[in-house]
Amino acid sequence: MSAPNKSYDPVEVEALKPEEIERMRDEALAAFAAAGDLDALAHAKTAHTGGTSPLALANREIGALPPQAKAAAGKLVGQARGVVSKALAARQTELEADRDARVLVEEAVDVTLPYDRVPAGARHPLTTLMERVSDVFVSMGYEVAEGPEVEAEWFNFDALNFVPDHPARQMQDTFFVQGTSAEGTATTGDESGVVLRTHTSPVQARTLIDREPPVYVVCPGRVYRTDELDATHTPVFHQIELLAVDEGLTMADLKGTLDHMVQALFGPDMKTRLRPNFFPFTEPSAEMDMLCYVCRGESVGNPDRPCRTCGSEGWIELGGCGMVNPKVLVACGVDPEKYSGFAFGFGIERMLMFRHNVDDMRDMVEGDVRFTRPFGMEI
Ligand SMILES: [Zn+2]
Repeated sequence: MSAPNKSYDPVEVEALKPEEIERMRDEALAAFAAAGDLDALAHAKTAHTGGTSPLALANREIGALPPQAKAAAGKLVGQARGVVSKALAARQTELEADRDARVLVEEAVDVTLPYDRVPAGARHPLTTLMERVSDVFVSMGYEVAEGPEVEAEWFNFDALNFVPDHPARQMQDTFFVQGTSAEGTATTGDESGVVLRTHTSPVQARTLIDREPPVYVVCPGRVYRTDELDATHTPVFHQIELLAVDEGLTMADLKGTLDHMVQALFGPDMKTRLRPNFFPFTEPSAEMDMLCYVCRGESVGNPDRPCRTCGSEGWIELGGCGMVNPKVLVACGVDPEKYSGFAFGFGIERMLMFRHNVDDMRDMVEGDVRFTRPFGMEI
């Protein structure tokens, strides 16, 4: 406490009353204690020790005091400011230590975590299904044969006994590739004689020209037709086709091969049936159905057990087949008197749809990993 002063008592200056100074000091201490982090403390520091803080303003008042009162008032304010700045430094140290400890925990790197674990991803189910079907035939001694996707019209149509005015040869069904004529000018549309293959059958013709029978090949591949992309059509799709040419082959061999294929893919009690049809490159030709693999035919005439997969028909249409037309054998240089053959082809997309309940063909081509991932990493 300062000594009484007759001419000017510092206690009478409002800002310099001891209880006021105490209040300012205690407010500063409380603000520092309440600051939860260094930012909050910086604000409290400005408010309580800055040039416009109450204690700084009180300090300024001292200048106006008479000399004999200055010492006592200065001591009072100086002590308060000393306590405040000590408390500030202590809180600063405390909060910095907190921050450093938190950073050590939050930014810690666990060096024991695996660094080389990447998601396995998945192969496209069209690829795995095509390989799986091919494997069935490879295990029977067939070879996998491939051919170009940009194909000569002759291989795609003529060699396979498509007549010149066959509707499939029209531009509304087939992509023709623009070419260059002998004179160097661009040829348009169907003048070029080059198409995107509309089926995998030209691989049959190429194989028969390339090698002597016996020939046993399976031809998986991409084919093209001028369809719009929708739930059941796509302009690019996949087929798998097989061709066997040997001495003495009959429809019975074809039927046995098809039965083996569906049993290998869908289970031992599967069956196939053939219905007469027409294709230019086989004679006789047939549509091939397989027993519905869900109801095994038990939904037929049984309203209590309807089957969504086959529409309670009991059978699922799979593809076309038949004995290789002798005209195709002749076109490919094979003696039809000595050799006969059978061929069979079907669409992979369609099989994937009914085998895995895929409702929309667009899911297969949009490249969304959420579609492929559930099929897993089947190799
Ligand atoms: Zn069924």
